[in-house]
Amino acid sequence: MAVSIAILKESHAGEARVAASPDTVKKWTASGLSVIIETGAGVRASITDEAFAAAGAIVAKTAAEALKTADILLKVRGPSASEIAGLRAGIIVVALLDAYREKANMEALAAMGATAYAMEFVPRITRAQVMDALSSQANLAGYRAVIEAAEAFGKAFPMMMTAAGTVAPAKVFVMGVGVAGLQAIATARRLGAVVSATDVRPATKEQVESLGAKFLAVEDEEFKNAQTAGGYAKEMSVEYKTKQAALTSSHIAKQDIVITTALIPGRAAPILVTKEQVASMKPGSVLIDLAAPQGGNVEGCKADEVVDVNGVKIIGPSNIVARIATDASALYAKNLQAFVGLLVDKDGNLVADSEDEILTAARVTQGGAVVHPSLKGA
Ligand code: NAD
Repeated sequence: MAVSIAILKESHAGEARVAASPDTVKKWTASGLSVIIETGAGVRASITDEAFAAAGAIVAKTAAEALKTADILLKVRGPSASEIAGLRAGIIVVALLDAYREKANMEALAAMGATAYAMEFVPRITRAQVMDALSSQANLAGYRAVIEAAEAFGKAFPMMMTAAGTVAPAKVFVMGVGVAGLQAIATARRLGAVVSATDVRPATKEQVESLGAKFLAVEDEEFKNAQTAGGYAKEMSVEYKTKQAALTSSHIAKQDIVITTALIPGRAAPILVTKEQVASMKPGSVLIDLAAPQGGNVEGCKADEVVDVNGVKIIGPSNIVARIATDASALYAKNLQAFVGLLVDKDGNLVADSEDEILTAARVTQGGAVVHPSLKGA
């Protein structure tokens, strides 16, 4: 029997994305897989049931109906406790599981006999680039952060010389120049802002400058060794962070917009903007903290609230990509399509016990146990 893929309507409040697009459904059904989608799954990403049906999907009235015969469940978020309780033993689950934080759900998936793969654990090797959901979503998050900043800012981004006077360009400072930060720089530049950026990884200096922004960082010995072999930042010492704060303080005071994106995998986000630095900014300034879901880079940031500190707004969206859900869904669906290509062979059969290094790296549960090395026994 053909391998069957189920797509559910996301149950998490505020999640507007969906784990399939008409394009991926068309590709799967053309290669002999069957796709069952819960009704309304794509509505918040502007994809109708009819569009999915036209691409070859079967539309199910309920989640339970969609899951009844499914071999593979694809989701944006990891399934909730009640969704896990409704899964068939032996099902394969692929989602952004948030496995470090959702440990109880990982145990529950194991107990249900599911084989679960975390899209956030897909290794950043060349072959897996097409499956890199962290990058596909971070890129859109960086873009959208600038749009949110522009919306909350009472002034213009570009310089305008008019008969009624000159409008000064906005000053934008991007802290953390990974995938999201780079796109934030590029977007702010396109809107005409004067952009500067900082990061602890030396490789970012050239990237920042190539986008026409100014680089600002404490470039000491620790900075030269701040990148892990995997390309991520290390947790910096207290001494480094103190020097970094001293360098950025006078800069932050002059900025109109600060966008923070700094993350360290598996740890709380580092504080990069202190209360005092927020207080030093002019009324009307805006901080967008993309690290809010991991605790935030800005002191005083509250996820999904606009915190007003003497006219300075701190905005920490916990799911900014949900505000660009159509593109975010299309790119994430493409990431999943490529990942499913590792689970199903060219004849449309499930690959049993694959030792593919991407699958091994992303596998969180199998055979009734949590098997990921960084979660085992945690
Ligand atoms: P991330 O989301 O983990 O972190 C965002 C940024 O915050 C990083 O650039 C990090 O260096 C920075 N940061 C951490 N602590 C900081 C501090 N105290 N002060 C200032 N900045 C701080 O990063 P990401 O977007 O996932 O990118 C991480 C790396 O992976 C980058 O080198 C990126 O180019 C690379 N990458 C590689 C591939 C690939 O090869 N397939 C794909 C995507 C990203």
